[in-house]
Amino acid sequence: MDRKEIVAAADAYWDANRDAIVADIAKLVEIPSTEDLAAAAPGAPYGPGPAAALAKALEIAEGMGMTATNCEGHIGFADLPGETDTQLGIIGHMDVVPAGPGWTFEPFKVTEKDGFLMGRGCLDDKGPSVVALHAVKCLARLDVPRPYTMRFIFGANEETGMRDVAWYLENYESPAFIFTPDADFPVCYGEKGGYDGRITSAPIADPVILDISGGVVTNAVPGEAWAVVRADASALPAAERITVEDAGNGTARIDAAGVNAHAAWPERGISAIMLLADYLLENGLVNQQEREFMELVRSLVSDTTGAGVGIATADEYFGPLTVVGGTIRKEGDRLVQTMDSRWPTSITADEITAALTKLTDAIGATFENTLLMVPFLVKPEDPEIQVLQDAFQFVTGDTEHKPFTIGGGTYAREFKKGASFGINMPWIENPQWVGGEHGPDEGVSEELLKTSFEIYVLALAELQELDIA
Ligand SMILES: [Zn+2]
Repeated sequence: MDRKEIVAAADAYWDANRDAIVADIAKLVEIPSTEDLAAAAPGAPYGPGPAAALAKALEIAEGMGMTATNCEGHIGFADLPGETDTQLGIIGHMDVVPAGPGWTFEPFKVTEKDGFLMGRGCLDDKGPSVVALHAVKCLARLDVPRPYTMRFIFGANEETGMRDVAWYLENYESPAFIFTPDADFPVCYGEKGGYDGRITSAPIADPVILDISGGVVTNAVPGEAWAVVRADASALPAAERITVEDAGNGTARIDAAGVNAHAAWPERGISAIMLLADYLLENGLVNQQEREFMELVRSLVSDTTGAGVGIATADEYFGPLTVVGGTIRKEGDRLVQTMDSRWPTSITADEITAALTKLTDAIGATFENTLLMVPFLVKPEDPEIQVLQDAFQFVTGDTEHKPFTIGGGTYAREFKKGASFGINMPWIENPQWVGGEHGPDEGVSEELLKTSFEIYVLALAELQELDIA
């Protein structure tokens, strides 16, 4: 079959099975599969919701004639045997984030409205998973060679730690190639490295900073930070994004208001810790030890490229390294600042550690590397990536959008070779009443599901023609 015939067959499959596909999505959306560790049990390690959604997905796959295996509720898979045991994989996740506030639709029910499917998981990741699963079923009916066994893996813990995939890879080998329908089209072939660190001051005697707190999580530009210092509030000057108030007993409380942003896109934010550090330093609200520490903090957070701490770099695949200083705290008589860096292939983790350690050594502070993930990269010119991109391009006619890399992490990076592949097309604007993943009124257009389906069928047929082993 040529490409045109494959896409025509996929189109006919969709038209004949559209209601069944929507019904399968609805069966999964009806299960509020958010993590609930307090209710974890044998067979349901992430709580009853993820386990029930996993079981339902395996039941759907079995109904398609695939052989399903439930791995004690951690994760599961369904196989469509090929001529060999070499596996071509797809992985989607059956867990969802909590509904959260602000819904006008019912979160755990599929509502169809004006060509959209509304409900938690319709976009992330139950809808795309069902679509990709039906693409496997469609592939099985096509007159195309199938040397590879199709393995569809259903995760149950993607949103809160990916312990499902860790479990899988301890017990099974990675498929030769795998894609996940859990991000954006066209195709994401790389994810930056992750590097978390922690800077701790020596004990500070006779402090001016009595307490300090900024940020909530380590992986975001902090939107808020505050400090209580020994100072006369009425003598402190006004400053942009800063409020000062008397906190009694000769102390002042200083609040900084920044703009929150995810660590993968720190340039979109304004660090409240930076604003606070600036204010404390410029107004002498520090002793000598605190000055040295806050100057280092300022170097870290005032430039999201890492230039301030000597680790700025970029490569051709990922672009620039990024840094955020997500949180600052006073712990006992020490100050503690965290960092989250997303790094390209043009630097090593050891070089990052060395650069930071040199700076902390100079002021008697300590530096600790607390999390390390190496960059994940499949070369964009590799045949698997080309097949995915070509399938996207052939079905949509879109030659503008190219393969890309991201600063965050998906399932793809856990496997031997993989990519994330759809289904979002962020350049297509939805009506304003349709929300995105993780927010209220999550929804997906039926048109996007159908286009994705055709792309997946074509991509699977053409991946089967590659030498992936
Ligand atoms: Zn997801």
